[in-house]
This record gives sequence, structure tokens and C-alpha cells, in this order.
Amino acid sequence: MTTDATTLTPEQKTWQNHVILHEFYGPLPLEPRRPPMRELISTLLSHRTTHADEEMAYDRMLTEFGDWEGVLAAPVGALAHAIRTTRWPDTQAPRIQEILARIKAEQGAFTLDFLANWQVEKGLEWLTAMPGIGLKTASLVLLFNFQKPVLPVDTHVHRVAQRVGMIGPKTSVEKAHQVLLAQLPKDPVVLLNFHKHNYWHGQHICFFTKPDCARCPLKSLCNYYFEHYGAPTAEALAATPRRWEKSWGVLLH
Ligand code: SF4
Repeated sequence: MTTDATTLTPEQKTWQNHVILHEFYGPLPLEPRRPPMRELISTLLSHRTTHADEEMAYDRMLTEFGDWEGVLAAPVGALAHAIRTTRWPDTQAPRIQEILARIKAEQGAFTLDFLANWQVEKGLEWLTAMPGIGLKTASLVLLFNFQKPVLPVDTHVHRVAQRVGMIGPKTSVEKAHQVLLAQLPKDPVVLLNFHKHNYWHGQHICFFTKPDCARCPLKSLCNYYFEHYGAPTAEALAATPRRWEKSWGVLLH
């Protein structure tokens, strides 16, 4: 394997990133982590919110109002109060109700199952026309729940991709969806693994401040490492762990 950050192309880095992190974190099956409606609304609630607070908001909302019909009919202030552990409850509450109203009006029920039969572009367009639903959330729903060949890029995936050099330093999160997707096989299993592995990597090793480069198996590919420490030495490579240790923390799916 070529291990020089300065000579690898972005495409080569992206593929090597996938191979290395696949071994580091282990393969993941492509199976929905939660039903489509829950994935859509929970991801909306998760913006700038911890996983625990997102779960609390979702559970309180459904406990208080019973089901999607109840959430739609609830006074918007009461809904905002129920989801108060999220970052922007007063903004998210009317968005949730508008999304539910549109789905019910178009489908006659609170379901996203029709997306299984739609082309990727049509599904992305439909989802991103909803208030508060961006490319990342739309891609998560289409990949996780409907096994469509799309790549969600969040702030963690974006940061790792920029530092390694899989995308340019000025490539936006939105643009990174297309750039990275074009560098990967259109295989939903590969795309899911690439997304989750880089998400975990940004959460647990490639921190926003002070990335833990000593522990990182991507150092031989990484522009940031090369610029800060030079080419990795044989000692640095030998000291790099090959696998994620469970004692380092829980990897949330
Ligand atoms: S070597 Fe450092 S900057 Fe590069 S991906 Fe790893 S942790 Fe991030």
C-alpha cells in the first residue's frame, strides 16, 4: 500500500480511508437502526444536541401526545416544551408539525415507505423540500432505511475528509456529499460503513480541537499529520493501534 500523504490522490485516500477504518472499527451490516419516520424526526431533533437529549425529547414527545396524529394536533408551545432538551425547540416544533402535515396530506398516513420505490434524486428532492431537512438527514433516511446509494456527510465526516485530503480545504459539507460519493463504489454497504466509521473517527479520535493523531491509523494518508509532524516515522506507525479498543468508549449506532 502506498503510504505517502503527499502523493496519493483524493480518490486513493478515500478508498484507503475506507479499507483502514473498516479494519479499525469493524464491518457493520446495512440494517435500519430505527423505523423511517423515527429516523427522520429523530435526526431533525439531533441537530447540535447530544444523543441522550435527542432520545429524551423523542420519548417525551410520543409519551405526551401518543402518536404522530397527536403530535400534529398538539399546541405548538406544548410540543416545543416536550422537546425542550433539543437545541432549538421553538424552531423544531413547528417544523415537525409541518413535516407531519405534508406527509399525511400526500400519503394519507404517516409513512415514508413510498421512498423505497423512488429514484434517489427524486427522494432527495422530496425530503430536502421539508423544513429543516438538509442533505445529511435526507441521505441518512435513504441510506439507512431504504438502502439507497447515497452518502450522509455530517460535521465529523467532513472534518476527517478535509484533514486527510479526501476533499479540498474549502469544500463545503453540502458539496462533500457529491465529491466523496463520486469517489466510492455505489454500494450501500460500503457507503454506510464509510459514513459510520468516519463519524466515529471524528467523534473519538479526530477531535475538532487537538486531534489524537498518535492513536490514528490514518496518519500515513493525512495532510494534517504531514503538515504538523512530517511523514510518520516507523516508530509512530508501529505504535499505532490496529483496532478500536472497547475500553476507549462506546460507539453508538
Ligand atoms: S492523523 Fe490526526 S488529523 Fe489526520 S485523521 Fe488522524 S486524527 Fe485526524
